[in-house]
Amino acid sequence: MPNQAKTLLKSVFGYDEFRPLQAEVIEHILQRNDALVVMPTGGGKSLCYQIPALIFEGLTIVVSPLISLMKDQVEQLQQVGVSAILLNSSLSPRAYSENLQKIKNREVRLLYVAPETLLKQNILTLLESVPVDCLTIDEAHCISEWGHDFRPEYRQIARVRQRFPGAVCVALTATATPRVQEDICASLHIEQPRKFIASFNRENLFLRVAAKVDPFSQTLEFLQQFPNQSGIIYCFSRKQVEMLADSLAARSFSVRPYHAGLADEVRKQNQELFIRDDVQIIVATIAFGMGINKSNVRFVIHYDLPKSIESYYQEIGRAGRDGLRAECLLLFGMGDTQKIRYFIDQKEDPQQRRTAYYHLDKLVDYAETGQCRRIPLIRYFGEDYQATECEMCDNCTQEKQEQIDLTIAAQKFFSCIYRTGQLFGSGHIIDVLRGSEAQKVIQHGHHNLSTYGIGLEYSKKQWAHLARQFVRQGYLSKDPQYGSLKLNEKSRLVLGGKEKFYGTLQEDVQHRRSAAPETYDSALFELLRRERKRLADLANTPPYVIFSDKTLSEMAAYFPQSEQSLTAIHGVGAAKLEKYGESFLAIIRDYCSRKGIAERPKSGPAAFPQPRRRVKGLSRTVQIGEAFNSGRSIPELMQEHGIKLSTLLSHLYKFLQDGRPLRNGDFLSHSRLSPEQQRRVLQVFEQLGAERLRPVFDAFDGKIAYDELHLLRLHFLSR
Ligand code: ADP
Ligand code: ZN
Repeated sequence: MPNQAKTLLKSVFGYDEFRPLQAEVIEHILQRNDALVVMPTGGGKSLCYQIPALIFEGLTIVVSPLISLMKDQVEQLQQVGVSAILLNSSLSPRAYSENLQKIKNREVRLLYVAPETLLKQNILTLLESVPVDCLTIDEAHCISEWGHDFRPEYRQIARVRQRFPGAVCVALTATATPRVQEDICASLHIEQPRKFIASFNRENLFLRVAAKVDPFSQTLEFLQQFPNQSGIIYCFSRKQVEMLADSLAARSFSVRPYHAGLADEVRKQNQELFIRDDVQIIVATIAFGMGINKSNVRFVIHYDLPKSIESYYQEIGRAGRDGLRAECLLLFGMGDTQKIRYFIDQKEDPQQRRTAYYHLDKLVDYAETGQCRRIPLIRYFGEDYQATECEMCDNCTQEKQEQIDLTIAAQKFFSCIYRTGQLFGSGHIIDVLRGSEAQKVIQHGHHNLSTYGIGLEYSKKQWAHLARQFVRQGYLSKDPQYGSLKLNEKSRLVLGGKEKFYGTLQEDVQHRRSAAPETYDSALFELLRRERKRLADLANTPPYVIFSDKTLSEMAAYFPQSEQSLTAIHGVGAAKLEKYGESFLAIIRDYCSRKGIAERPKSGPAAFPQPRRRVKGLSRTVQIGEAFNSGRSIPELMQEHGIKLSTLLSHLYKFLQDGRPLRNGDFLSHSRLSPEQQRRVLQVFEQLGAERLRPVFDAFDGKIAYDELHLLRLHFLSR
């Protein structure tokens, strides 16, 4: 049996491994034992009953309180080729009766149903006439008056349970309190209740708390790290939501507000735009998020203090459901706590005041802790969290503030500003430096500049961090209106080699269980993302239903170019391979042939989380450098990697620059210069140094091509 489950996991859902507890729960259910499953949001509850549903002969009924959640689940199941349908009041009469017919014909594996629909006599009679193997109660905490979301109609499901004596009962929730858990088991008469309680540690969330100094600027700075990515900003009040959304929109962010004061249609529309990746950011009061399954939320900002650790945990939990790294920033201001204290003091009931103070204190403890943030957070939920360092919070990864010589980086950056006419902001400059194929780069012909692609040694984030230092330290001025960066006297001195630049380099930390953006090819990712959006719009479905961010990032890390290698990618099951395989393969093949990139084997499921390359471009450099050192010739390497001479030479140079020794290959034999010319060039290197080629180029009045200079420099340096 478990084998069958594992096979289905890959062939239908495209996943290699079960998440913690999934396998145990599935086996338990398949043996027809009732279960209560408690997992944090994003933990992977759905598979726990979906895989048994595929193995059972009869129907699996899933009761779910929210129409949007049901729709989402059914869509995702249909995408992977599972016959799932829903019954609720949102269906047209025709669709409704079609679905009834499908149940009668026993064509359906999973039926999602609203509680009030399930309680209808005619529906019950229909369902009793077909074999039902499993009754699943999603969001089961709605059963409990102690839960935060009690729904009276949920209580009555208990009665329904008796009508399906042969069905095993599975209740699922993300609510951790023992009180609610007891309530669920008691009201559903879950026999010999077996509880499965997963850890509340969401390892892929990076937790950061910053003193709230200038929240708007802090937010802008934070957002710079997430171009084109989805995120939520939570505010305390509607007014704050409106103001912040307006200010961000004025800065051309793609953003919509969401709060209880908006008309229903507006709210619904804004949410839909967000889910479909048509809008990047939602600014919301806490009202936003229930019933959202969007898996590719990459950041959550708390602009104001949340109400309690519970609500904070729930809100950050909406990020990173695909298991990829996501960032959570809490802006913590003493003014906010005073405001909340004031509101608490207005409460009449002393008991209420006490609980409110308790929640506030716990939250302040969390914000002010100098320990790993996961300690106060996870222990709050009564879990015995033992680790002392998680490496995924600000306290565990404090930057080392050592000032180092970053003159070369500064020169690259400044010269790129110069060559692009001092008209662009840092994002664009970084794109050029990192050889991005973004439309804007190509449109301006910036892929033809000599500074194109010379900055691969640092990640986007590291460059952005550097750029902020350049501005802060007065080497660049920033146009207040357009954000374009301009050189000044100070930067010119650095450019001319007359002054050095000292600053800090952000550590490019890689993380367990997550693929940091640096581990995949971000230009390819962007092309794949656009294709996903196109297909999603065609299919009228949210993009993450087609493929998750994790799937795209694996494609952009392994470059699969055949159906077989595509199947090894996370999230690619048989149905999706058939539907979308060709579209994505075409893009990958085209990209790889243009860039001369070969497919990388994905060797087993464990391979991905271990970053193979610290910085994009680096591993290729190391590969090439090592191959060269082991005796491979220049023409052989050009052919093997499908690259031009100049590209090869710049890899070898970078290899040297990284402090690795390079053998003195016969560089000179590839030069077309006469021995006399070669001698003179080497002399000039002797005089001017070999760090920059431009002065050497100028010294010969531009008569000696850069390729030649590159060759001779390598000869010069590897002697
Ligand atoms: P929950 O209902 O617990 O909030 P979901 O069931 O929606 O979580 O799962 C969250 C995400 O994780 C989904 O995108 C799902 O496809 C994915 N997922 C679930 N199980 C696995 C697994 N074993 N391997 C990889 N991804 C998984
Ligand atoms: Zn930590």
